[in-house]
Amino acid sequence: MAQYKYSTYLHHDTSVAFDDIHQPGDVCKHSGLFRCETCGDEIAANKGAALPPQNHHQHASGRPIRWRLIVVAQQR
Ligand SMILES: [Zn+2]
Repeated sequence: MAQYKYSTYLHHDTSVAFDDIHQPGDVCKHSGLFRCETCGDEIAANKGAALPPQNHHQHASGRPIRWRLIVVAQQR
């Protein structure tokens, strides 16, 4: 689970961007942290870059990787 120390640097946001589930290789619309819905693995990814492919990590269950945006990095 993503961790932080100072809550003053985070802002609660109800954007639908956090509801979308992304496939391996999808292009990120936001820079930030993504979490695999299947196993909880977390990664950092940049806007405009592809999310890691299906072979990024494996699940014993054989279920696919499904990425969810959990924290957005605000860029100026
Ligand atoms: Zn996973």
